Amino acid sequence: MGLFKRKSEEPAEGGPVSDRMALARQWQEQAKQMQAQAMQQAAALQHATAARQGSQAAPAAQVGSMTWARQVLAILAPPQPGFVKRCTCMVCGAPKKLPTVTAYVYCDYCASLIDYDLRRACEGDTAPDPAYAATVNSTQAAAREAAAAGDRDTYRDLQKRVFEAYVTGVPMAVSHRARNDRSYRDAYVGYMAGAATARAFDPASQALEAEMRQRVMALRYGGNMMSPTVAPDSFWPVVDTLQKQIETGKALYRSAGLAELDPDHAEHLTGKFAWSGFCQGWLGMLPADTATQLLDRAGLTNEYVPVEAEDGQSRHCGGCGAEFSALPGATAVICEGCGRKMDLGSAEIPCASCGAVMTLPAGADRMACPFCQAQVERAGLR
Ligand SMILES: [Zn+2]
Ligand SMILES: [Zn+2]
Ligand SMILES: [Zn+2]
Repeated sequence: MGLFKRKSEEPAEGGPVSDRMALARQWQEQAKQMQAQAMQQAAALQHATAARQGSQAAPAAQVGSMTWARQVLAILAPPQPGFVKRCTCMVCGAPKKLPTVTAYVYCDYCASLIDYDLRRACEGDTAPDPAYAATVNSTQAAAREAAAAGDRDTYRDLQKRVFEAYVTGVPMAVSHRARNDRSYRDAYVGYMAGAATARAFDPASQALEAEMRQRVMALRYGGNMMSPTVAPDSFWPVVDTLQKQIETGKALYRSAGLAELDPDHAEHLTGKFAWSGFCQGWLGMLPADTATQLLDRAGLTNEYVPVEAEDGQSRHCGGCGAEFSALPGATAVICEGCGRKMDLGSAEIPCASCGAVMTLPAGADRMACPFCQAQVERAGLR
């Protein structure tokens, strides 16, 4: 289907499976916790050696802070304004051409989620949100009880509360589609809760989580307090376990039918999301050559190609007023300004009050004009 032949140059990420940010988030948080712990250990060490100078050692970069992000970015490709991550749509086969604002890369032609840009993800501030952390803490005991009692429904309901707090409190980690599209957001929360529940009730997943905890605890650290590093020979077993977790997760999500719950239908990105979250957590603590090897193994070496504006038609989003480009042959795009899906099959609609011309989001028959707030309706309604 579509304009372009599907190309097979994208790395094979496995079959039709789905998990995405669920696993990524879990690994990322695990990594961050361990890093914080390592930094405390390193700080204590540093403090002991610096005590003779009577000076308090300078604080290490807070994980998730902008300083931390810069450390990670230094390992990834340098910034290239006017470039876009090289990738191809799995659904219609089109290459990505237009610039992106977030880590979530959507197709310029059919609005499918086609890639996740680790470099973009590292640019954002991923500091934990207090309300989200409070929700996680307040549901943990009940979740453990539900898991022990084999009560999947209760467990899933608790996870829904957690992920509701997540999309609200950590919006930068979630697709921009969740910002203004209620149905997308609800589906995403349901999907994430379903994935978490599948893992919690799967013995193989639980065993691998225990193995991961063990291997992370066995990590050895070097470097100094300002830049603690992980000893590579103690790090690779962690990566081996991650790889097993990814494969197990793919099979588990396939058997649990989670692909149908995923509002982005992005099962081909399962591995990429998981590796990305893991790399986001650990890259900043690895020696440069180990970091490069990890990116290679994860298939995440960033490649960027120049943005191609082509002879796209300039349009404006009826939801937020942002300008976007409709490329020849495109049927739908996601607005980079507000995350709403734009249906390009329908004609642009003028505002009767201010005269601005706009494209209404898919499924919306009327909206408040983003420029003057007057009501704008599709023709033929009433
Ligand atoms: Zn596409
Ligand atoms: Zn918009
Ligand atoms: Zn108007």
